[in-house]
Amino acid sequence: MLEIRDLHVSYGKVEAVRGVSASAAPGRITLVLGANGAGKSTTLRTVAGLVPAVSGEVVLDGKVITGRPGHTIVRDGLVLVPEGRRVFAPLTVEENLLLGGYVAPRAKSAETLDRVYEMFPILAQRRRGAAGLLSGGEQQMLAFGRALMSSPRVMLMDEPSMGLAPAMVESVFGAVREIADAGIALLVVEQNAELGLEIADDVVVVARGEVVFSGEAEQARSDASVVRAFLGEA
Ligand code: ATP
Repeated sequence: MLEIRDLHVSYGKVEAVRGVSASAAPGRITLVLGANGAGKSTTLRTVAGLVPAVSGEVVLDGKVITGRPGHTIVRDGLVLVPEGRRVFAPLTVEENLLLGGYVAPRAKSAETLDRVYEMFPILAQRRRGAAGLLSGGEQQMLAFGRALMSSPRVMLMDEPSMGLAPAMVESVFGAVREIADAGIALLVVEQNAELGLEIADDVVVVARGEVVFSGEAEQARSDASVVRAFLGEA
């Protein structure tokens, strides 16, 4: 379980995040929506320990992790799947996956690798091929798989559908749902509000660094104009 409490983050004089609170629970997808520059990526990067918070708290399974370095946060069970996937193109698919498991003991890695291949058969088929030869959608699956190799309880995903063909977006969102159904808590930033709302359980809308809507996805779906208004206004 992840709880973000009244998070504030600045880059010099720019207050990118101004009091964001949100949470993510096992088996549920919390969708974070907002216009460009609303502070979504900054929120994820701060939670993952890559950017320092000015104030506020990030609590992972009851333990405050704010201010801790990113690599210890991964060890504690929280992992970020970055925007743009960032796979290591010259390395093989399997080498990319094994890098994601570096925090786990070797035996555990082998077991987790099998599970990742079960979840994403395309990665098993391409295991000895260079990651750079995969399509955008396949690279996104690889980025998910690499993150799963650390056996996370919480996963943060930054715009998983970015730059993908529509058919690929659907299969990537299918994978997102499958990861949540495996009992992982997901916090997912998306520009594609319409499709994102179809798979989300909870929704947080951010505008200018502040939360302007927070509720169940059902509520947002039944009154999509509410979310659209927030997004348009941002
Ligand atoms: P996008 O969808 O465009 O990624 P976002 O909602 O994720 O938008 P952020 O990337 O978190 O928004 O940016 C929030 C604010 O912080 C913006 O005003 C942005 O210009 C600023 N910002 C982001 N990264 C930096 C940085 N490294 N240095 C200075 N300002 C930054």
